[in-house]
Amino acid sequence: MEKLLFGVSGLPLGDGKKKFNYATGIEYLARIGLDAMEMPFVRSVNVSEKNAPDILRAKRDSGLYLSAHGSYYVNLNAGDEALREKSRERLAAAARAVRLVDADIVVFHAGYYLGQESAQAMAAVSENLALLPSEGVRFCLETTGKPTQFGTVQEIAALCTIHPHCRICIDFAHIHARDNGALRGYADFAAILEHVGRELGRSALDDLHMHAAGISYTAKGERCHLPLRESDFNYAAMLRALKDFRVGGRLIAEGPLVEGDALLLKEAYRRL
Ligand SMILES: [Zn+2]
Repeated sequence: MEKLLFGVSGLPLGDGKKKFNYATGIEYLARIGLDAMEMPFVRSVNVSEKNAPDILRAKRDSGLYLSAHGSYYVNLNAGDEALREKSRERLAAAARAVRLVDADIVVFHAGYYLGQESAQAMAAVSENLALLPSEGVRFCLETTGKPTQFGTVQEIAALCTIHPHCRICIDFAHIHARDNGALRGYADFAAILEHVGRELGRSALDDLHMHAAGISYTAKGERCHLPLRESDFNYAAMLRALKDFRVGGRLIAEGPLVEGDALLLKEAYRRL
């Protein structure tokens, strides 16, 4: 069976008395029994030659898995080439920074439809993915939380069949919110994993990058993240499906409780 790691997005909360940096956060997460951390480069790339040695040491000592979430200011379907170029530069900068800490995953949201049909937006995103650096990095296109944002499971899986340096990041909460509460039961989660396996092969399920969280939403999609237990997100059905499909990789908990929800998921999964 493939191993599934459980982790958090960003720095842990701890007891609230002391603020963590990446290195101390990594040590703390490993100490409480978690396996992974996704570093948020969402407003700026905050790993550099300055803090990388400490992060690297903490990572090696603890065995914690590191990935990064790229900038929010990316739109590979922007109308203006200068904006598309800026987006590619932001992703390339994130790729350089993850390599400093011996990591290779950069998760990101590919962009917006801007009124276009899926096929047209997909062609533009694809053209720009081809221009990203491909050495030593895996760009994980995340399934998005709003119908205006490019990124269904189908669209992203199709792009991953074309670009060897791209992977899918399944954000289950986003899929749930994008379609106004679509993931109700086991069959809904299973259908996603079936699609990934069919399009991208067994290896994609053995090494899948995923996000999960409680979420609130409207007809327009995602509003905000919530603690798992305070939302209608059916994490029990998700975990059952992950177990049945023998999914390996990383499940990153996002949301206000940070490590609290990651531990909840890991414990619930272990009890299955
Ligand atoms: Zn994201």
